[in-house]
Amino acid sequence: MKIAFEKEIRVKYDVDVFIAGGGPAGVAAAVAAAENGASVFIAEAFGAFGGAAVNALVPAFMQFTDGENFVADGIGRRVRDYIKQNCPEKMKKYCPDSIPVETLKLCYDGMIEKCGAKFAFFTNVIDTIAEDGKVKYAVCSTKGEIYAVKAKVFIDCTGDGDMAKMSGAEYLTGDENGSVMGATLCALWTGIDWEKVKGPDSRRLEDAFSDGVFTNEDRHLPGMWPIGDGLGGSNAGHIYDIDGCDGDSLTRGMVEARKQLLEYRRYYRDYLDGFGDSEPVISASVIGIRESRRIIGDYILNLDDFKNRAVFDDEIGRYCYCIDVHSPKNTTEGYNEYKRLIETFIYKKGESYGIPYRSLTVKGISNMLTAGRCISTDKNMQSSVRVMPGCYITGQAAGVAAAIACENGGGCRDIDIKELQKRLKKLGAYLPNADK
Ligand SMILES: Cc1cc2nc3c(=O)[nH]c(=O)nc-3n(C[C@H](O)[C@H](O)[C@H](O)COP(=O)(O)OP(=O)(O)OC[C@H]3O[C@@H](n4cnc5c(N)ncnc54)[C@H](O)[C@@H]3O)c2cc1C
Repeated sequence: MKIAFEKEIRVKYDVDVFIAGGGPAGVAAAVAAAENGASVFIAEAFGAFGGAAVNALVPAFMQFTDGENFVADGIGRRVRDYIKQNCPEKMKKYCPDSIPVETLKLCYDGMIEKCGAKFAFFTNVIDTIAEDGKVKYAVCSTKGEIYAVKAKVFIDCTGDGDMAKMSGAEYLTGDENGSVMGATLCALWTGIDWEKVKGPDSRRLEDAFSDGVFTNEDRHLPGMWPIGDGLGGSNAGHIYDIDGCDGDSLTRGMVEARKQLLEYRRYYRDYLDGFGDSEPVISASVIGIRESRRIIGDYILNLDDFKNRAVFDDEIGRYCYCIDVHSPKNTTEGYNEYKRLIETFIYKKGESYGIPYRSLTVKGISNMLTAGRCISTDKNMQSSVRVMPGCYITGQAAGVAAAIACENGGGCRDIDIKELQKRLKKLGAYLPNADK
């Protein structure tokens, strides 16, 4: 059965730039847009900025540098510096590569407050109103109210490409069968004796399989990150066939993953040195989704670009993380393919690939950009650019581009790329090819 649902809602804000989602991409976009003169509103579904690191308790940042150059320079450097200076004493040794969650939350709150962007937590973007390929309003739902926000430019930083999809954008998901990487419920652990902890030992995992510790024999165990004295963040186990854009699927994932965490608790405590007294004290409030929609832009960043260390005329940044595709199924072939890709497509020091502005513009929509996990890439490149430093790079570029677009009527394709690159450089972005 279906029913019609119609409601008159007020236009609560009228801004230059509307941003959906306050993860690393959304925060970077908001700060960059505001610092470039735009009025900004950012809507975040959870109660804090930070996205997967905060809500899904992803315990560590991947690389900010290519070994020689600070590729996530600009907003990425500000976040890293803040964490270095402000993380609690007992965490200093392990940060900023590992994530002190409360410090990160305060970092983002401070950055957003300082830049003057308006923001609202507990606010979901549930629809958009668009006409002739141009979005006019984002429809937001929060406790007690559904309202609209009018803007000139819209940036989708939801990770899942929700706002672009709602506006009619084309997208791809996963591999040729639509299968996505396994999802993981991360958790914070206490009682770890890091002095006694040894490196990963696949033989102990095999022992645990033989002893029937696990319901599923999953050989891909990313592991436990040291976050502080006695403290760890687990990125352990996968739940397969979870659709991050489907509430029912996410619900099933949470229930399965919490049961699975108990199996990892037994494994860590009974099989690994240093974990005998460890305890997962809190699991994340949302299962970590590595992959969902990739919104189609004017260019699809692809594996050849990784191989060729691509340089683009409209380059907005360069990044370097390896091709890290977790298997979509718990199979030996899937695990072997993950290993093949990660061992084959990994750069030497100083190497990186360019990210073109055209992979942030949204095909068929004139005033929308994407940033973060959902930009226009193929499956392999998504597995590289999706990590948080990559999201700062695309986020800040989308923010600056949106501010420039607003100065010229809102068309994201009408902006001067040289001006974009100039302003990005002013922000600190690593753009070694911009003047060539
Ligand atoms: C298990 C796991 C392990 C990982 N490990 C690492 C790692 O070690 N290092 C690393 O750097 N990266 C890692 N990543 C990747 C990284 O965390 C994410 O890809 C990255 O956070 C994506 O950033 P984003 O800003 O695009 O999206 P997200 O971080 O997902 O942020 C999106 C935000 O948008 C909000 N949102 C979503 N939909 C809506 C909506 N409709 N309306 C309003 N708000 C909305 C969400 O609440 C969220 O806060 C990992 C990811 C996972 C899942």
